[in-house]
Amino acid sequence: MKFGFDIDDTLIQLREHAFHIYNRKLNKDIQIDEFHALNRVEIHEPFGMTDDEGKKMWMDHVEDIYFSECPPYPDAVDTLQKLEREGHEIYYITARSKEFGERTMDWMIKAGFPVHPKRFFYGMDDHEKVHIIEELELDYYFDDKPAVVETLKNPRTKVFLKNQPYNRHLELPRIDSWNELFDYILEKK
Ligand SMILES: [Mg+2]
Repeated sequence: MKFGFDIDDTLIQLREHAFHIYNRKLNKDIQIDEFHALNRVEIHEPFGMTDDEGKKMWMDHVEDIYFSECPPYPDAVDTLQKLEREGHEIYYITARSKEFGERTMDWMIKAGFPVHPKRFFYGMDDHEKVHIIEELELDYYFDDKPAVVETLKNPRTKVFLKNQPYNRHLELPRIDSWNELFDYILEKK
Protein backbone atom coordinates (compact mmCIF):
# COMPACT_ATOMS: atom_id res chain seq x y z
CA MET A 1 0.00 0.00 0.00
CA LYS A 2 0.97 3.63 -0.41
CA PHE A 3 1.50 5.73 2.71
CA GLY A 4 1.99 9.50 2.60
CA PHE A 5 3.31 11.61 5.44
CA ASP A 6 3.67 15.26 6.18
CA ILE A 7 6.93 15.86 8.08
CA ASP A 8 6.77 18.86 10.43
CA ASP A 9 4.71 18.20 13.55
CA THR A 10 3.49 14.97 12.05
CA LEU A 11 6.68 12.90 12.15
CA ILE A 12 9.07 15.29 13.91
CA GLN A 13 8.54 17.64 16.85
CA LEU A 14 9.42 20.81 14.99
CA ARG A 15 7.36 23.38 16.90
CA GLU A 16 8.63 22.19 20.26
CA HIS A 17 12.17 22.14 18.91
CA ALA A 18 11.73 25.71 17.66
CA PHE A 19 10.33 26.72 21.07
CA HIS A 20 13.60 25.63 22.70
CA ILE A 21 15.57 27.51 20.04
CA TYR A 22 13.52 30.66 20.70
CA ASN A 23 14.31 30.40 24.42
CA ARG A 24 18.02 30.12 23.65
CA LYS A 25 18.15 32.87 21.04
CA LEU A 26 16.09 35.28 23.16
CA ASN A 27 17.85 34.31 26.34
CA LYS A 28 14.55 33.43 27.99
CA ASP A 29 13.30 30.54 30.03
CA ILE A 30 9.65 30.23 29.05
CA GLN A 31 8.40 26.96 30.49
CA ILE A 32 7.37 24.10 28.24
CA ASP A 33 3.87 24.11 29.83
CA GLU A 34 3.25 27.31 27.90
CA PHE A 35 4.13 25.51 24.70
CA HIS A 36 1.73 22.68 25.51
CA ALA A 37 -1.04 25.19 26.28
CA LEU A 38 -0.87 26.71 22.78
CA ASN A 39 -3.82 25.92 20.58
CA ARG A 40 -2.50 27.41 17.37
CA VAL A 41 0.31 26.36 15.07
CA GLU A 42 2.44 29.46 15.72
CA ILE A 43 4.60 29.45 18.85
CA HIS A 44 5.62 33.08 19.35
CA GLU A 45 2.88 34.25 21.73
CA PRO A 46 4.48 33.08 25.00
CA PHE A 47 7.54 35.13 23.98
CA GLY A 48 5.40 38.28 23.85
CA MET A 49 5.71 38.71 20.10
CA THR A 50 3.09 39.95 17.67
CA ASP A 51 2.22 37.77 14.68
CA ASP A 52 4.51 39.82 12.44
CA GLU A 53 7.38 39.61 14.92
CA GLY A 54 6.73 35.90 15.28
CA LYS A 55 6.87 35.38 11.53
CA LYS A 56 10.16 37.26 11.35
CA MET A 57 11.59 35.28 14.26
CA TRP A 58 10.76 32.03 12.48
CA MET A 59 12.25 33.17 9.18
CA ASP A 60 15.41 34.53 10.85
CA HIS A 61 16.07 31.17 12.48
CA VAL A 62 14.52 28.78 9.98
CA GLU A 63 17.85 27.16 9.02
CA ASP A 64 18.59 26.40 12.62
CA ILE A 65 15.04 25.15 13.24
CA TYR A 66 15.04 22.85 10.20
CA PHE A 67 18.56 21.48 10.23
CA SER A 68 19.59 21.07 13.86
CA GLU A 69 18.71 18.10 16.03
CA CYS A 70 14.93 18.14 15.96
CA PRO A 71 13.64 14.96 17.61
CA PRO A 72 11.21 12.73 15.72
CA TYR A 73 8.09 11.74 17.66
CA PRO A 74 8.58 8.53 19.62
CA ASP A 75 8.34 5.43 17.40
CA ALA A 76 7.96 7.46 14.19
CA VAL A 77 11.23 6.20 12.66
CA ASP A 78 10.66 2.58 13.73
CA THR A 79 7.08 2.57 12.48
CA LEU A 80 8.05 3.86 9.03
CA GLN A 81 10.98 1.46 8.86
CA LYS A 82 8.59 -1.37 9.63
CA LEU A 83 6.20 -0.25 6.88
CA GLU A 84 9.13 -0.19 4.47
CA ARG A 85 10.26 -3.67 5.51
CA GLU A 86 6.75 -4.96 4.93
CA GLY A 87 6.92 -3.74 1.35
CA HIS A 88 4.75 -0.63 1.54
CA GLU A 89 5.60 2.53 -0.40
CA ILE A 90 6.38 5.57 1.72
CA TYR A 91 5.91 9.11 0.40
CA TYR A 92 6.77 12.41 2.06
CA ILE A 93 4.88 15.57 1.19
CA THR A 94 6.16 18.68 2.92
CA ALA A 95 5.33 22.31 2.32
CA ARG A 96 8.90 23.32 3.17
CA SER A 97 10.08 25.62 0.41
CA LYS A 98 12.08 24.52 -2.64
CA GLU A 99 15.34 25.94 -1.33
CA PHE A 100 15.19 23.58 1.66
CA GLY A 101 13.85 20.50 -0.13
CA GLU A 102 17.04 18.57 -0.89
CA ARG A 103 18.58 19.30 2.50
CA THR A 104 15.38 18.26 4.22
CA MET A 105 15.51 14.96 2.37
CA ASP A 106 19.12 14.42 3.48
CA TRP A 107 18.17 15.38 7.03
CA MET A 108 15.35 12.81 7.06
CA ILE A 109 17.71 10.08 5.83
CA LYS A 110 20.20 10.99 8.56
CA ALA A 111 17.41 10.89 11.14
CA GLY A 112 16.75 7.28 10.10
CA PHE A 113 13.57 7.61 8.06
CA PRO A 114 13.28 5.39 4.97
CA VAL A 115 13.46 7.77 2.00
CA HIS A 116 13.32 7.14 -1.76
CA PRO A 117 14.21 10.37 -3.58
CA LYS A 118 11.42 9.85 -6.13
CA ARG A 119 8.90 9.65 -3.32
CA PHE A 120 9.88 12.92 -1.68
CA PHE A 121 7.83 16.03 -2.53
CA TYR A 122 8.33 19.58 -1.33
CA GLY A 123 7.87 23.24 -2.24
CA MET A 124 4.09 23.36 -2.56
CA ASP A 125 1.67 25.39 -0.43
CA ASP A 126 -0.41 23.56 2.15
CA HIS A 127 -3.53 23.83 0.01
CA GLU A 128 -1.68 22.40 -3.01
CA LYS A 129 -0.73 19.18 -1.28
CA VAL A 130 -4.09 17.73 -2.22
CA HIS A 131 -3.10 17.55 -5.91
CA ILE A 132 -0.02 15.47 -5.22
CA ILE A 133 -1.89 13.25 -2.78
CA GLU A 134 -4.59 12.56 -5.36
CA GLU A 135 -2.13 12.06 -8.20
CA LEU A 136 -0.15 9.53 -6.17
CA GLU A 137 -3.35 7.66 -5.29
CA LEU A 138 -2.22 7.22 -1.73
CA ASP A 139 -4.04 4.70 0.44
CA TYR A 140 -3.22 6.60 3.64
CA TYR A 141 -2.14 10.15 4.36
CA PHE A 142 -1.08 11.67 7.69
CA ASP A 143 -0.86 15.40 8.48
CA ASP A 144 -1.29 17.73 11.42
CA LYS A 145 -2.71 20.82 9.74
CA PRO A 146 -6.43 21.53 9.42
CA ALA A 147 -5.71 23.60 6.28
CA VAL A 148 -4.36 20.50 4.55
CA VAL A 149 -6.75 17.77 5.63
CA GLU A 150 -9.82 19.92 5.00
CA THR A 151 -8.92 19.94 1.30
CA LEU A 152 -8.74 16.15 1.07
CA LYS A 153 -12.02 14.76 -0.11
CA ASN A 154 -10.77 11.86 -2.17
CA PRO A 155 -12.41 8.74 -0.79
CA ARG A 156 -9.54 6.63 -2.07
CA THR A 157 -7.19 8.09 0.53
CA LYS A 158 -7.83 7.51 4.21
CA VAL A 159 -6.74 10.64 6.03
CA PHE A 160 -5.46 10.59 9.59
CA LEU A 161 -4.52 13.55 11.76
CA LYS A 162 -1.47 13.57 13.95
CA ASN A 163 -3.15 14.68 17.13
CA GLN A 164 -2.30 18.30 17.99
CA PRO A 165 -4.05 20.93 20.11
CA TYR A 166 -4.84 22.99 17.01
CA ASN A 167 -6.66 20.21 15.14
CA ARG A 168 -8.93 18.82 17.87
CA HIS A 169 -12.02 20.43 16.33
CA LEU A 170 -11.80 18.15 13.29
CA GLU A 171 -13.67 14.89 13.29
CA LEU A 172 -11.21 12.61 11.64
CA PRO A 173 -9.34 9.54 12.77
CA ARG A 174 -6.20 10.56 14.58
CA ILE A 175 -2.89 9.11 15.64
CA ASP A 176 -1.70 10.15 19.04
CA SER A 177 1.38 8.02 19.16
CA TRP A 178 3.08 6.37 16.19
CA ASN A 179 3.12 2.92 17.73
CA GLU A 180 -0.69 2.90 17.28
CA LEU A 181 -0.47 2.96 13.50
CA PHE A 182 -0.51 -0.76 12.95
CA ASP A 183 -3.47 -1.13 15.31
CA TYR A 184 -5.52 1.28 13.27
CA ILE A 185 -4.73 0.43 9.73
CA LEU A 186 -3.42 -3.08 9.34
CA GLU A 187 -4.23 -6.45 10.77
CA LYS A 188 -2.09 -7.05 13.78
CA LYS A 189 0.88 -9.26 13.04
MG1 LIG B 1 2.94 19.63 9.44
